[in-house]
Amino acid sequence: MTKFSDLNLDAKVLKAVADTGYETPTPIQAGAIPPALEGRDVLGIAQTGTGKTASFTLPMITLLGRGRARARMPRSLVLAPTRELAAQVAENFDAYAKYTKLTKALLIGGTSFKEQDALIDKGVDVLIATPGRLIDHFERGKLILSDVKIMVVDEADRMLDMGFIPDIERIFQMTPFTRQTLFFSATMAPEIERITNTFLSSPAKVEVARAATTGENIKQGVVIFEGSTKAKADREKRDLLRALIDAEGDACTNAIIFCNRKSDVDTVAKSLSKHGYDAAPIHGDLDQSHRTRTLEGFRDGTLRFLVASDVAARGLDIPAVTHVFNFDVPSHAEDYVHRIGRTGRAGRKGTAIMICAPRDVKNLEDVERLVQTTIPRLDNPTGTTPAEASETEAAPAAATEDKPKRTRSRSRRKDSPKPDESAPTASPRTPDPAAATEDAQTVAEDIHTEPAAKAPSQPRAAQTTEEPQSDAPKGGRSSRGGRGRARGGNDQREGQSNDKGGHGRAVVGMGEDVPDFIAKSFAERGAG
Ligand code: AMP
Repeated sequence: MTKFSDLNLDAKVLKAVADTGYETPTPIQAGAIPPALEGRDVLGIAQTGTGKTASFTLPMITLLGRGRARARMPRSLVLAPTRELAAQVAENFDAYAKYTKLTKALLIGGTSFKEQDALIDKGVDVLIATPGRLIDHFERGKLILSDVKIMVVDEADRMLDMGFIPDIERIFQMTPFTRQTLFFSATMAPEIERITNTFLSSPAKVEVARAATTGENIKQGVVIFEGSTKAKADREKRDLLRALIDAEGDACTNAIIFCNRKSDVDTVAKSLSKHGYDAAPIHGDLDQSHRTRTLEGFRDGTLRFLVASDVAARGLDIPAVTHVFNFDVPSHAEDYVHRIGRTGRAGRKGTAIMICAPRDVKNLEDVERLVQTTIPRLDNPTGTTPAEASETEAAPAAATEDKPKRTRSRSRRKDSPKPDESAPTASPRTPDPAAATEDAQTVAEDIHTEPAAKAPSQPRAAQTTEEPQSDAPKGGRSSRGGRGRARGGNDQREGQSNDKGGHGRAVVGMGEDVPDFIAKSFAERGAG
């Protein structure tokens, strides 16, 4: 078995690694470190949780050991898709470089340019940045990239999802042709392949298995849920979530609850808090200091439930999460792997429980195809059963939150099973009147808070990102690439969209949360 000491790493790096207590390199480390130290380009196909951050940080620190940084001219560059991931890389760098004199700067949105400029002015060895913020600094003339010797692109597939690929291409072009490139992606979509063919030179390809797909240490389950009526479905779904949490008892020390939509992240977090659960939301519309505080609280155990969107939580290294609850089935199957991979880390056991509404059955099939397993069906502990179809149709006002928002979801609905195909087995439960009040309130708040973030005020394409301010990609990005385009639909759900779910007419100021009756009257007027 390879040891760290076999890898030709600098003695100071080895000492820092020994301090962390890691005994043997992970497969991605054993595979990527030797070619990186030889100065070769590396293409690492690995996801978070495999130890990939150290697989590029350790050789970088070793290689940068000699030489000094000049003012405004960083010697290396690490690009990460989200602020949290960039901050995580910076933490890793601090830990592994603690016995060296290397300096770093973290350039992310949500923090002041002034402080970042001051660091760059002094000269840094390692610059860790989100692509948008890096380009902002460059365009302000504060940064010169012609001395970059090593460039790392981390989580390239997420960059693609977030529309960052044109920025990455631009940044590649701003750095010297002779740089060494270490490029990491969990998957090799065609667009990623194109980038690596263009910008990497005979890379050493290191691929490690996706840890979470086997999931032997993760107990999985799915509850097929359909509300008793459409009007009650949203509230009943939140009732169900609480019942599922309660059913886990003390085994559920902490959990991440994933929702597909930002609006649901807020609603679910508020609803849980109102019912006495210690919960807080994290998604891209929350300001950075808020996000950082929430994450810190979750990491140090003072916050028990983190309600998150995919983009906010992707790649976060939170080692001891006992449970993941999927409030929705993710519409892109690979997100399921990333979501449940938040639990059962570092050899621990984990539990991943998902709620599947009838309209998500197709997505559930996609997930099961990807993970090559049938996720065990769990009984609905609340015993909610669907009512008659006529009753379900007669509730337009409450459809606001639940209404499918895009043509794609709408067509999916046709594929959904009839209510009785997915009826839960347990007996019905009387709805809690207190929770009904809470429901009306949280949905109302939800409608008031979301549009500001989603209003189509920016002159950019209908592509959105986790970083709504300066980290966000600039215009024209949505025109790129196959997979990027395909996934744009998903991303829109987390941000801006001008098309109200196939109605074809924008309702300014309401974002995607256009009540059915308004959208319908638009459609009718349009037709008439
Ligand atoms: P990453 O994939 O870089 O996010 O790392 C996932 C987790 O594995 C982090 O908590 C690292 O601290 C940890 N880790 C990294 N390298 C090793 C190693 N060689 N042995 C054990 N744990 C490691």
